Amino acid sequence: MRILVVEDDPKTGEYLKRGLTENGFVVDVVHDGIDGKFYATTGDYQLVILDVGLPKMDGWKVVADIRRQKDTPVLFLTARDKVEDRVKGLELGADDYLVKPFAFSELLARIRTVLRRGKAVEPEVVRVSDLELDLPRHRAFRAGHRIDLTAKEFTLLALFMRRAGEVLSRTFIAEQVWDMNFDSDTNVVEVAVKRLRAKVDDPFEQKLIHTIRGVGYVLEDRAAQS
Ligand code: CA
Repeated sequence: MRILVVEDDPKTGEYLKRGLTENGFVVDVVHDGIDGKFYATTGDYQLVILDVGLPKMDGWKVVADIRRQKDTPVLFLTARDKVEDRVKGLELGADDYLVKPFAFSELLARIRTVLRRGKAVEPEVVRVSDLELDLPRHRAFRAGHRIDLTAKEFTLLALFMRRAGEVLSRTFIAEQVWDMNFDSDTNVVEVAVKRLRAKVDDPFEQKLIHTIRGVGYVLEDRAAQS
């Protein structure tokens, strides 16, 4: 799940990025309205968190422009607490409106609600063979044993499991699991997959993550196919 944060205050931007990353989201932060509009309309984000008071172009204009092109959910996060502002935000096409200062737990709850709305509800637990991922609780199990994963490993495994049976290229994985500052020339994806395999596959006889030479990786239960 990728989230774009449009926030000109560097401290708030960093705080959001850290908190959301810890919760398994991939987060890009931009600091003005023009960049916000550009990334929101050209990038592949599941949610935009948008400030109102922004340099170059305010959040009202940004949401109106996004709405002309895309239906990506938008959550306003702003210090403006007047009823007229809330109404204006929602009328312009925002999906929710949260006033600063905010509790991080409330932000997370609002994000989950916005992401659920109008969509097929994602199953909370995904299974492939004896590997099980409990998405809301951030837990992974193999053959009934809990596997300890870092936040990044969890995000990577969730991507593999949501798209089980699909071959995922290294570039695609990099885009979905790392933010836009990620240097795709590095072998970070390979290293991360190796670490994940060490936990998920190495202790077990049946391997689930397979390398597709020259392309990328696929997670699948090959025993079930034969
Ligand atoms: Ca601001």
